[in-house]
Amino acid sequence: MQKGNIGVTTENIFPVIKKFLYSDHEIFLRELVSNAVDATQKLKTLVSMGEYQGELGDLTIHVNLDKDTLTVSDRGLGLTAEEIDKYINQIAFSGANDFLEKYKNDANAIIGHFGLGFYSAFMVAKKVEIITKSCKEGAQAVKWTCDGSPEFTIEDCDKADRGTDIILYIDDDCKEFLEEARISSLLKKYCSFLPIPIAFGKKKEWKDGKQVDTEEDNIINDTCPLWTRKPSELKDEDYKKFYRELYPMADEPLFWIHLNVDYPFHLTGILYFPKVKSNIELNRNKIQLYCNQVYVTDSVEGIVPDFLTLLHGVLDSPDIPLNVSRSYLQSDSNVKKISTYITKKVSDRLQSIFKNDRKQFEEKWNDLKIFINYGMLTQEDFYDRAKDFALFTDTDGKYYTFDEYKTLIKDNQTDKDNTLIYLYANHKDEQYSYIEAAKNKGYNVLLMNGQLDIAVVSMLEQKFEKVRFTRVDSDIIDRLIVKEDHKEQVLEVQEEEALSLMFRSQLPQMDKTDFHVSTQAMGENAMPVMITQSEYMRRMKEMANIQAGMSFYGEMPDMFNLVLNADHKLVKDVLADETKVCSAQTNPIQQEIDEATQRSNELRKNQTGKKDEEIPTSEKDELNTLDKKIEDLKKQKEAIYSDYASKNPVIKQLIDLALLQNGMLKGEALNNFVKRSIELIQ
Ligand code: ADP
Repeated sequence: MQKGNIGVTTENIFPVIKKFLYSDHEIFLRELVSNAVDATQKLKTLVSMGEYQGELGDLTIHVNLDKDTLTVSDRGLGLTAEEIDKYINQIAFSGANDFLEKYKNDANAIIGHFGLGFYSAFMVAKKVEIITKSCKEGAQAVKWTCDGSPEFTIEDCDKADRGTDIILYIDDDCKEFLEEARISSLLKKYCSFLPIPIAFGKKKEWKDGKQVDTEEDNIINDTCPLWTRKPSELKDEDYKKFYRELYPMADEPLFWIHLNVDYPFHLTGILYFPKVKSNIELNRNKIQLYCNQVYVTDSVEGIVPDFLTLLHGVLDSPDIPLNVSRSYLQSDSNVKKISTYITKKVSDRLQSIFKNDRKQFEEKWNDLKIFINYGMLTQEDFYDRAKDFALFTDTDGKYYTFDEYKTLIKDNQTDKDNTLIYLYANHKDEQYSYIEAAKNKGYNVLLMNGQLDIAVVSMLEQKFEKVRFTRVDSDIIDRLIVKEDHKEQVLEVQEEEALSLMFRSQLPQMDKTDFHVSTQAMGENAMPVMITQSEYMRRMKEMANIQAGMSFYGEMPDMFNLVLNADHKLVKDVLADETKVCSAQTNPIQQEIDEATQRSNELRKNQTGKKDEEIPTSEKDELNTLDKKIEDLKKQKEAIYSDYASKNPVIKQLIDLALLQNGMLKGEALNNFVKRSIELIQ
């Protein structure tokens, strides 16, 4: 028997392994099983090169649990005593302390950095044995033992068969790794697609109401997963079946892409476009990353562009530096190339479906949309490709590409400043009347009701030239797309003021909501009263909800316009009746206001150009008195209008109808409206 110290420059590697690798202890199993797979693959290579003449036989790798031990056995190429010395005993371990300090939470990084795969066994074992017999002719079987100190022993032993058994004497505080269920789930997680069969215990069957072992090995992996096979040999059903295996709970995927690259990096995989549920976040990180069929992780940020983390499926590449920490990934040039490649593949695939089967593309657009929009918003190169197949949907359910849509609306929706106006609604029912009004004008209205559409609208306004998006309810129809300058006013200033004051006085008080009342000639067939909301303010508020740093807008009240239709009979009637009832009172007040205003204007005119001290105090006093008088008179007038308006049920009714049409009439106000309506029809 030979004794020795493991060749590490640092005092003792084992406490380090235990102490620093707090998390991820479970990956020891992945490391050991993949070592066994490597040893088996290498043997197969030797056979194919004619360098090994013996029988390969059954190459199944066995994982076995005993009372205190976990064993991984392979029939791979095994190790000689010299090889153990070379590959196991000598570990390059310089600069270890700094590195360990930096990556103490990242077992992957440490294992990768030091080539410590095998030593990860000491994360869970107090003692490890290697019993191995090399495939070399006449090789002597050897047993290596190490109890977690730098000391090891190596001695000859008996082993009938070629290959290696790694025996872990599991630590007392790691007993979970002796549980069948735990190991079973770890094997499922990390080893499901390894290329050599892996047996864990025996297949079970039901006998006399109990599960009992059969003779047959329980193989836990699929050695030939779908992504390693030729696309030409596969049917749609195969892809769907594989998807179900990966995500048993998910809906059927929309499309998939089979990736297969050899140059300038190696990458295989299958990416699925899932049906994205409304909440994007829940759908992230479903892609599984493999390195030569060994599962590594399901968090692929940094490897694929952000929007592609919404995809599902598997990626397998030996070229992605899997054993390094996340922060390495972003700067790795292979990773960047892979990311660009995947983006291109994904857009090519979408492009080809769009081209070859537009009907199918349109049918799936609703599910694809969030994904494509997200890509366009976050990835410039994706926008450049997607702009040719991304679709608009209008309120009639028709689909258009960006170019098609532009052609459609160009003639009728260009305003006097040569800006092309895109009209949109975000709710077909809530904005029904506005949509109808726009359609009656021959306009087309887009439906922008997706989670990301507010942001898409802003993006497209920047990308397209001389274009503005405006929601159908952001103004009265004639002002949505202004084709010629102004229409003449139909009302006198006084009349307008009267209307405005009357209606304003009857608007219900609403929390965080302000109204601006104005009059407009909209034609006698249009609604008597409309409510609109300025595009700019509304959009700022919407952006504030989805974007940090804009809370200023979020705090602002909602600003609405109450627009009275001066052409409508009901509005005219209100005005006529008001004149009849109130003019006896308001006219004299108005006259006084006019006189006072005239006098105050004269005084002001006189004073222009004069210095303050040149103006006599008497004049200043008079002006102050006049201003105050005008204000008082206006208040009196307002009170008269407001008093009148409060007794005119038509005003209230018109306001409420407009609110109702916008879903803004609620609670007590709604109740009052219903009561008043009943009184009116009695
Ligand atoms: P890595 O696999 O990254 O080289 P490890 O520490 O996992 O590092 O293994 C060190 C070496 O030990 C391997 O390169 C291989 O030569 C040898 N080895 C480990 N496990 C086995 C095994 N089951 N059969 C044969 N050789 C093995």
